[in-house]
Amino acid sequence: MSTVIINAGSNRGDRRLNLSRALREIGERFGAFEMSHALVSEPWGFESTHKFLNVCFVVNTDKTPEEVLDELQEIEKKISPAPHRGVDGSYLDRVLDLDIVAIDDLVIDTERLKVPHPHLAERRFFLEPLAEVAPGWRHPVTGKTADEMLSELKED
Ligand code: AMP
Repeated sequence: MSTVIINAGSNRGDRRLNLSRALREIGERFGAFEMSHALVSEPWGFESTHKFLNVCFVVNTDKTPEEVLDELQEIEKKISPAPHRGVDGSYLDRVLDLDIVAIDDLVIDTERLKVPHPHLAERRFFLEPLAEVAPGWRHPVTGKTADEMLSELKED
């Protein structure tokens, strides 16, 4: 059984409805989960006037990391088939983005899946809810907690 920390974000359409639909799907596929508060964040890596609403949640599962990613990608597509990236690879506004932030103390670095999320230490909208739901978790490479990474985060 592994503990998976997932971040859900939405900056298009009815953000609260999109997130609540995602959480219902998560519950159906993974069972009970713990959830952080929701926070508003600026788009990261692209310009948009639409701010994100993010939540983080923790599930316990026997699924492999790749199976977890398959489930999350299915949920994203079910809730909105719109692409997340432009033809040039640039980020776009998105109805729903589901990212695996961490899985226990696993380090995965394949073409399809990188865990912990490679941008974890740079994204306040990953770190703040992570600090809330998993204050004792340490990054398996740097050894830092979410609070320690937050205190080192440069302000935009
Ligand atoms: P995006 O278009 O920004 O939603 O990125 C999705 C892509 O990131 C997919 O092709 C995933 O295979 C890949 N990916 C790599 N690591 C992760 C991760 N930790 N969580 C979610 N997607 C990931």
